[in-house]
Amino acid sequence: MTEDAIIIGGGFAGLSAAMQLARARRRITILDTGLPRNRFAARSHGFLAQDGRPGGDILADARRQLAAYETVTFRDAPAERLEGERDAFFVVAGDGARIDARRVLLATGFEDQLPDIPGLAERWGKTVLHCPYCHGYEVGGGAVGVLARTSDAARFAAVVADWGDVTLFTNAVPEPDEKDLAVLEARNVKLRPGRVTAVADGPGGMLAVETGPGIPTLVKALFVSPEARVRSDIPRDRGLELKQTPIGNILKTDDTGQTSLPGLYAAGDIALGAANIALASANGVKTAVFLHHSLIWS
Ligand SMILES: Cc1cc2nc3c(=O)[nH]c(=O)nc-3n(C[C@H](O)[C@H](O)[C@H](O)COP(=O)(O)OP(=O)(O)OC[C@H]3O[C@@H](n4cnc5c(N)ncnc54)[C@H](O)[C@@H]3O)c2cc1C
Repeated sequence: MTEDAIIIGGGFAGLSAAMQLARARRRITILDTGLPRNRFAARSHGFLAQDGRPGGDILADARRQLAAYETVTFRDAPAERLEGERDAFFVVAGDGARIDARRVLLATGFEDQLPDIPGLAERWGKTVLHCPYCHGYEVGGGAVGVLARTSDAARFAAVVADWGDVTLFTNAVPEPDEKDLAVLEARNVKLRPGRVTAVADGPGGMLAVETGPGIPTLVKALFVSPEARVRSDIPRDRGLELKQTPIGNILKTDDTGQTSLPGLYAAGDIALGAANIALASANGVKTAVFLHHSLIWS
């Protein structure tokens, strides 16, 4: 049987899209590997009516509600290959299954590539954070750090200053220009030049940020904007057009969420770039509605 759509990725965007299509009584299969981007954080914040809940609990509720729709099939397996074209796609899953569908929605999310600094990866989502809107409030003010990865870091540091007293670790990234320096000064952001060599546990639950020999700088949390990579080989295999953003390449889509391959849609982080649960979910809803319409006016 041919599905109306396959959704690759059952995170916030994929499941939000699935809900719209399920409610239109469309046949869909959702392929998912169960590794949402925010899995490193114990709780998720800023999503209306769900503030402070573990992200996994929100997704588990969504899956439960979707499973009640007769036309929805879940498959806990990765999508390995996408073959075919509009109205005649098929996906080969990691469990060997072949699933045919008229449309495909890619919602695989990002994998974050942290700078290669000892101590950073194991603290990701705990005291090493990517987004002040998601986790800055819980830090509770005081000394916080921003680790520069690109020249946008100065602007990021100026924003983070609403959540604490910021030290910007320039980490061998070119220092801010005069205009940005003036903003940083007005925002009381301190600059700490030099390459960050390690992050370790400091006294009193603080993080010790080391910039070579000498006394490390103590902060309660360190914000870093990692490079984000689309978690799927399908864009490369199918030669999809990409768009550059400050955090990494995303999929180029038109206003309906369709990629450069007709009939293949993309939603969530991989279509938006810097996003969050609410934005990814909203984008999943919007893209699903356009995908649904394309099944009618094809
Ligand atoms: C540490 C951290 C904490 C965060 N905290 C918050 C927060 O508190 N509040 C907030 O609003 N945002 C938060 N975010 C951002 C939020 O996680 C993302 O914006 C959101 O998860 C994007 O949703 P998505 O559906 O695009 O992708 P994801 O939620 O990442 O879902 C993608 C899904 O696709 C699956 N998948 C990947 N490849 C395949 C494949 N080939 N086949 C099948 N399935 C596949 C994955 O396993 C995953 O289940 C946080 C991000 C990070 C890194």
